[in-house]
Amino acid sequence: MKNTKQDQTSAELHVVIIGGGIAGLSAAWQLRQTIDQTGLHCTVLESSTRWGGKIVTKRFDVVDNERTVGPFVVDSGPESFITRKPGAWDLACELGLREQLFNPGSETRNTYVVDQGRPVLLPISPLAFVRSRLISTRGKLRMFKEPFIPARRDDGDESLADFVRRRLGREALEKFIGPVLGGIYNTDPEYQSILTTAPVMREMERDGGSLVAGAFGRMRAKAKLRKEAKARGEILAPSFITFKNGADHLVRELVRQLCENSAFDLRLKSKVSAIEAIDGGGERQRYRLHLEGKESGGESILADAIIFASPANVAARLLQSISPESAASLAKIHHVHIGTISLGFREKDLQLSNPISGLMIPRREKRLIDAMTFTSAKFPDRAPKGYALMRVFFGGAAPYTMDLDDTALCELVLSELKELLGIEAKPLGYVVERWPASYPQAAVGHLGLVDEIEARLPAGLVVTGSSYRGLGVPDSIEQGRTTAVKLVRTLAV
Ligand SMILES: Cc1cc2nc3c(=O)[nH]c(=O)nc-3n(C[C@H](O)[C@H](O)[C@H](O)COP(=O)(O)OP(=O)(O)OC[C@H]3O[C@@H](n4cnc5c(N)ncnc54)[C@H](O)[C@@H]3O)c2cc1C
Repeated sequence: MKNTKQDQTSAELHVVIIGGGIAGLSAAWQLRQTIDQTGLHCTVLESSTRWGGKIVTKRFDVVDNERTVGPFVVDSGPESFITRKPGAWDLACELGLREQLFNPGSETRNTYVVDQGRPVLLPISPLAFVRSRLISTRGKLRMFKEPFIPARRDDGDESLADFVRRRLGREALEKFIGPVLGGIYNTDPEYQSILTTAPVMREMERDGGSLVAGAFGRMRAKAKLRKEAKARGEILAPSFITFKNGADHLVRELVRQLCENSAFDLRLKSKVSAIEAIDGGGERQRYRLHLEGKESGGESILADAIIFASPANVAARLLQSISPESAASLAKIHHVHIGTISLGFREKDLQLSNPISGLMIPRREKRLIDAMTFTSAKFPDRAPKGYALMRVFFGGAAPYTMDLDDTALCELVLSELKELLGIEAKPLGYVVERWPASYPQAAVGHLGLVDEIEARLPAGLVVTGSSYRGLGVPDSIEQGRTTAVKLVRTLAV
């Protein structure tokens, strides 16, 4: 895939994208839509040996009684995507992948939360809620008062924790909603900005006057949309989507279609190590990117514009010399560790007393792992018949676990699973993925900080991806595409 366009001197403008995660690739995809009119050409530089960043699907076999069994199909990073934010659904449809999608169903069915060392079923139906011992009667009564709490209608930010406490009470935060939100966003709800992470909750409060009224209003609107779509013979997207063969299907197809266009040069093992601003000889500022890595070491590339689609802490380092103010603002975005270990078991060895699809572990429980999803309970095709696949998240509550070698990590995870779920079985195989200091945290006021960063960036430089305006894959796709559109506009091509 390597072709050298770095010495380009023609009138064509060269856009370089740093980072081949889904945000960077989506930005490239958007540029492709306008390439015929703009005459731009584009290089995507990815430091690692594969495309997709946090989207990574792995397959492994195990040996059981001298027989090779497999494959276990593991999404080490994201595995399902919300469609309320349509980025992933729209992109999959544009790439012709609609047939590869399926509806994973409810995300919260059979999910447990650890409370005082023991797993308790998350009550998701009204009856289960009333019966649940997770929340005291007093806590439940406080939650029932939610529709009568006056709505906040201004645009000011607050933490997820403040929002939940304000609307539903302290116990709802500590026992119920906090662990779910903390688990989903790998964060402490006391820190995380609601306007970046879950703006929909504030929208429901604002539109309906309460979460309950807002939720019912949304359900009614959705039912109406479904009815109208059905009458037109259309199928609406389910609430969540997953790829049958793993999430990297999206990435592989995106890369394949981008590579078909000669205006694109996609390069792996190409880590950008430094950037300098150079005099473009005209009105336009140009930039020289220096690469390191096995294949690109010592090389430099000339760019008219750069899309930084790496985590913000990487952009901060790269911008240090050419825009110290932007770098200082970017450095304020905090990134934490995250890792997953996916373990394959014999089904009969697990002997779980109740069906379980996931386990949320609040930080106050002081455990060494962050959460667990029972992948094969949700997606049976991901493990061979008679076998089970489980994915455990680590690195947040106990950062030192990031540095353990795979064997030590597996032992630690098994001892946690034994204590929390009584699982004594040994896995037949496992795979580990680690992202050190790479999972963005959006503090209260985060969106204001992003506005500040964008305003400070020198001409021709833009940032995009999960560090900025939303953490999930649909957000990253949407941001990549929007950034590309804006960039083309500012380049006036
Ligand atoms: C375990 C886990 C589970 C998740 N589950 C879900 C889920 O179920 N649903 C959902 O919607 N989201 C989920 N997410 C979040 C989602 O995966 C990410 O937000 C999204 O994939 C981020 O995409 P990105 O392109 O912004 O960043 P990244 O994927 O981090 O991509 C950035 C890329 O930049 C590259 N790079 C870094 N430095 C350089 C450099 N100097 N030069 C060149 N390249 C560089 C990196 O190698 C990387 O490939 C999950 C994330 C994790 C980690």
